[in-house]
Amino acid sequence: MVLGLERYQRIYNGEAVAKFQIARRINAEKKESIDEMWKHHSELKKEFKALLAEKGDDIDFLTSHPADYSFLHLKVDLLKEMLKECCFCERRCGVNRYEKKGFCKVGAKSYYASEFLHMGEEPELIPSHTIFFNRCTFACVFCQNYDIVYDEDYEALPEDLAEVIDRRFRQGSRNVNFVGGNPDQHAHTILETLSHVESNIPVVWNSNMYHSSELAEVIEDVVDVWLGDFKYGNDKCAEKYSRVKNYWKVVTRNFLRAKDNGELLIRHLVMPNHIECCTEPIVKWVAENLGRDTRFNLMFQYYPAFRAFDFPEIARRLTPEEMRRAVEITEKYGLRNLV
Ligand code: SF4
Repeated sequence: MVLGLERYQRIYNGEAVAKFQIARRINAEKKESIDEMWKHHSELKKEFKALLAEKGDDIDFLTSHPADYSFLHLKVDLLKEMLKECCFCERRCGVNRYEKKGFCKVGAKSYYASEFLHMGEEPELIPSHTIFFNRCTFACVFCQNYDIVYDEDYEALPEDLAEVIDRRFRQGSRNVNFVGGNPDQHAHTILETLSHVESNIPVVWNSNMYHSSELAEVIEDVVDVWLGDFKYGNDKCAEKYSRVKNYWKVVTRNFLRAKDNGELLIRHLVMPNHIECCTEPIVKWVAENLGRDTRFNLMFQYYPAFRAFDFPEIARRLTPEEMRRAVEITEKYGLRNLV
């Protein structure tokens, strides 16, 4: 068992129940207004937490029938209402996504570029059924997935995508991994997709962790593993390379909340000339606030992609000295659960 991901492993071993399968089995009532939906959602959240504690490790619970209109359906309806004044992420564009698009350029429909069994993720995740949704709430100048981010290959139709997830599960996937780009702006489509999935499969939310608290309130009851990127150790670098404000406060808030509502695997892509300003504060904060046993992937595969050549300080790969220094920092703060 990998420390910190025990529940995740029990789910794919068939010994525990994925959270969305619990949410599908809680009866809910349809509500008209968004205020009523929120109220009902918070009532059912208590029921969900009690059921997760009581039945989360009881695989026989899956023999009970999903509800016709469940807590999960209520979440989908709530997210679709939230689209009318979008605050899925902390950009808080406030646009009605049925009529126009905000910063991420995603309307009410979702698209994905590809899906496959990914063999290149962390060892405990592979084979990971990775679904690459398009667009992003960030605008990273060094984006290594820009071909995916700006692609609109396939419309994500929930029932069809659910069938694909079930098929990939039969082919051996250990999890379904929602990524991009970024998954947050597609939360309504992803949760609707899960409402049709039959498999008991762990859900991995592979994101930049810049989601709003409102979005966390809704999606945290279906996310089994938060696979979060921790990119920057300060707001200045975040603003310069990803055009995001208030990065540190938002992301640290979200990591703390994620730890209380699921399991964590953190990725940090080490960048040239950003060891002292980014790597060190991140490692220090993780060790002191999330614990030295946090599963942490110190990634050295940075290369200058997309518009990185416009920024001379990041227009190269890491040097051996920078890699050595990054490892030294993890040792200094005692992170001991490295990938
Ligand atoms: S998901 Fe974020 S970036 Fe996209 S429209 Fe909503 S608030 Fe704006």
